[in-house]
Amino acid sequence: MTDEELLERAREARKFAYTPYSGYQVGAALLSADGQVYTGCNIENAAYGNTMCAERTALYKAVSEGVRSFTKLAIAASESAPFPCGACRQSLFEFAPELEILVTWDGNVRKTTLGALLPEGFGPASLGK
Ligand SMILES: [Zn+2]
Repeated sequence: MTDEELLERAREARKFAYTPYSGYQVGAALLSADGQVYTGCNIENAAYGNTMCAERTALYKAVSEGVRSFTKLAIAASESAPFPCGACRQSLFEFAPELEILVTWDGNVRKTTLGALLPEGFGPASLGK
């Protein structure tokens, strides 16, 4: 799967975003080590604290199906760069500390890594696991 194909899956997933409050729509496509793609969108709620990000939606879909190893994540938005929030960085670090991350918005693409976004992250090794 090419980077552009994974980015396109994230753009497609964004179409399902449920964002009646912020209007900020995000799609994510998470590539597993065995080559499967798990997509997610952000899902808002009238009780704002219940809102879920696109990245964790994709991650939790995968983990709930028994997949725990990931290589790359693409995230798509429109008007501004959708770098993952702190909670998503932490959740992703649990399963993929070496994750490559592609971010796209308004015709732009940026490549980074989870290690760059969350240096010295707290993970299973922190607990001796
Ligand atoms: Zn997030």
